[in-house]
Amino acid sequence: MLAFGAHPDDIEFTCGGVIAQETDAGRAAHFVVCSRGEAATHGAPEQRVEEARRAAALLGATVEFVELDGDSHLEVRAAHAITLAGVLRRVRPGIVLAPSPTENQHPDHWRLGRLVCDAVRLARFGGVRELRESAPHGIAQLLFYAPTREAEPDKISPVLIDISRPEIIATWVAAMEAHGSQTSARNYVEVQLTRARLHGLGAGVEYATALFPADPLVFSSLSGLGRGTRGL
Ligand SMILES: [Zn+2]
Repeated sequence: MLAFGAHPDDIEFTCGGVIAQETDAGRAAHFVVCSRGEAATHGAPEQRVEEARRAAALLGATVEFVELDGDSHLEVRAAHAITLAGVLRRVRPGIVLAPSPTENQHPDHWRLGRLVCDAVRLARFGGVRELRESAPHGIAQLLFYAPTREAEPDKISPVLIDISRPEIIATWVAAMEAHGSQTSARNYVEVQLTRARLHGLGAGVEYATALFPADPLVFSSLSGLGRGTRGL
């Protein structure tokens, strides 16, 4: 899987539990972070990058940084979508995670979500001039994550991923705490755990992360479907 983040902590805070669970099961995860958090009130960019590297390692993931417009300056334009499509062609993931394109408190989050939607499409196209050196690649699924409750798309039913195993929660918390420049400013760990607990209560489990499919999911049989939340 490949996860895109606008800032050095977005992926870990929002879907660190899901990633810990996937890598624990032997699947590879790669993070692409599109700024060094240089506009943040807390933490210098060098520190933020270091924190992100440590957090990714704790989650069993690799991480790279891509320079687009810089923190808080991200714009939706074709050149960026093509850059990200190039990353997709190089890494060739099955599952892609990206911030929700629903407008919310940070403009970089939803703008990156829109850019990734475009990048996923362009990665498939054989004739994009700038991408001719690499073979086209079609991903299996694009799933959005919501860094805040306000970013949860209200028109997409979420897929709820059960992350209740204590060792998974412990790894997730450690990855969040690796971002000490942020967690010392506000209790983000408690905020995200509480959100996961709330989704967990809705799903009938201890903790769950909500992911929002960009497209209808395709299954080869009904037996591959999880259960629904109705009736809990
Ligand atoms: Zn962010």
